[in-house]
Amino acid sequence: EARDPNQPEFLQAVHEVMGSLWGFIAANPRYAEAGLLERLVEPERVIQFRVSWTDDKGETHTNRAFRVQHSSAIGPFKGGMRFHPTVNLSVLKFLAFEQTFKNALTTLPMGGGKGGSDFDPKGKSRGEVMRFCQALMIELYRHLGPDTDVPAGDMGVGGREVGFMAGMMKKLSNNAACVFTGKGLSFGGSLIRPEATGYGLVYFVQDMLARRNMSLDGLRVSVSGSGNVAQYTVEKAMELGAKVVSVSDSSGTVIDEEGFTREKLAVLMDVKNVHYGRASDYAERLKLRFEPGQRPWSIPVDVALPCATQNELSRDDALLLLKNGVKCVAEGANMPSTLEAVDAFNSAGILYAPGKASNAGGVATSGLEMTQNAERLPWERDEVDNRLRMIMRDIHENCVRYGSRDAGFVNYVDGANIAGFVKVADAMTAQGVY
Ligand code: NDP
Repeated sequence: EARDPNQPEFLQAVHEVMGSLWGFIAANPRYAEAGLLERLVEPERVIQFRVSWTDDKGETHTNRAFRVQHSSAIGPFKGGMRFHPTVNLSVLKFLAFEQTFKNALTTLPMGGGKGGSDFDPKGKSRGEVMRFCQALMIELYRHLGPDTDVPAGDMGVGGREVGFMAGMMKKLSNNAACVFTGKGLSFGGSLIRPEATGYGLVYFVQDMLARRNMSLDGLRVSVSGSGNVAQYTVEKAMELGAKVVSVSDSSGTVIDEEGFTREKLAVLMDVKNVHYGRASDYAERLKLRFEPGQRPWSIPVDVALPCATQNELSRDDALLLLKNGVKCVAEGANMPSTLEAVDAFNSAGILYAPGKASNAGGVATSGLEMTQNAERLPWERDEVDNRLRMIMRDIHENCVRYGSRDAGFVNYVDGANIAGFVKVADAMTAQGVY
């Protein structure tokens, strides 16, 4: 804390992980040797740089961008790029730290990293977004490579932005590898990658519910966010028979007691992915109830799936969800629940999964995209989906293995943190101190 006094998100993420590890390390003291924990919390490298670009009126803007290369212990640095005004070093260090454990959980050989910029894509033209992405790559390209650092999308960075960055990567490196995952299908992308985080989240929820002899069929589900993760979470939950009663964004929450349908989801995707509009526009188009500035946590549901952003679910929200009978909370976003909210869920003994386990399907499928690129062969949709299903099952089993407590209760936070830690720590130990 003395070292990073202005990095609350990073400290929050480290506290959460260390809370899980103390007991495990006390029982396995070899993991306290050779300064392992001190090394693990320090990123291997942090790059900060200026991005200057010109808008459609010819005016110049300067943004700040970063790449946090947290750990390459088990493979190349891997993690998305986020474009959002709230991006700063603390947020990206927390995301890169989390990513290191998440990637270890996938069982694929990927280290952890994260990057992004305080650039706000909202309201920008396609040309402005393209020029910004290209200007960013003029610096970032020299730090990337298929065996060095492999970025992807995150908030504010979807297929369009990945395409612009991958194109510039190709140009500057004189190498067709493009390096990014989440690419378009026509230049090395993988089927199912856009769907993977949301689908993976719902697969994980299926496995959690099965431990209590439940299924999603007929359950009421609330989802926050309305971006990439939220959209495919809605799609898969609906497909499995759940009634999805909300989506949201920073403008507020749409409440739909009738539940989502395929047709409604197509309208949401049109509003968000084609017109880059707001949740309020979606509500207006379908004449649905809209609560400006509200989050969805006061709606009584069986399952709550936060898929928007960090710290969007407070202790009070958690208590309200519990009072209203929530049985399962699983995170599609990274660290959406505050530490106090997580404590409330675990104390109540409900099923609660942290993002680093339940949202790992996206990066896992990015890992599968890297494999397809390396063998220069695209896989069929079913093959990728089946592998995603198996990876989520393995992650769930690993959480149960390390997180099982008395009376059949599984602490998924401890399970995910310890399982991820063991893999990274063993690799760091084997490679010596450097
Ligand atoms: P998108 O940019 O596609 O969507 C983000 C959504 O969250 C938007 O609807 C956005 O609304 C909303 N949002 C942002 N800030 C707030 C806020 N303060 N209050 C309410 N809503 C807000 O991003 P993704 O769907 O890709 O990412 C969502 C989360 O999932 C992030 O935490 C990300 O790190 C995580 N994640 C993403 C993965 C992926 O594969 N994409 C993989 C694993 C995790 P608005 O447009 O109004 O800002």
